[in-house]
Amino acid sequence: MAVKRLDTWAKEHGVTAVDFIWADIQGAEGDLITGGKETLANTRYFYTEYSDEELYEGQPTLAQLQSMLPTFSIVRRYPMDVLFENLSFQSIKNKLPEHLVSYQNVRRNASCPCGSGKRYKHCHGSNAL
Ligand SMILES: [Zn+2]
Repeated sequence: MAVKRLDTWAKEHGVTAVDFIWADIQGAEGDLITGGKETLANTRYFYTEYSDEELYEGQPTLAQLQSMLPTFSIVRRYPMDVLFENLSFQSIKNKLPEHLVSYQNVRRNASCPCGSGKRYKHCHGSNAL
């Protein structure tokens, strides 16, 4: 079976933000997280199995998952599965992908449409007339 890092896959497909990842990979959760750090940082929900009794060899415990996912908090815990939410996702989501941002008719003192929180004249408008 061909295996690909999550971050590699995301780059190849131009995926910049993910709403939900459902991982059912029977012990490879740690590998997924290690190979998908950048993608997970831009992922809102992450649903995965865990095992405090090591059902599959190498399957992380809940405590190990939590330490691998520092920006995530547990939304709901099931007997063998857990749903995480990325608490830093909201600020990422407010930053629109560049190709969706319109800079037409922006006042120089208005906040920049890119979502940076800066004024337009100090951000993307700094080169505009
Ligand atoms: Zn900007």
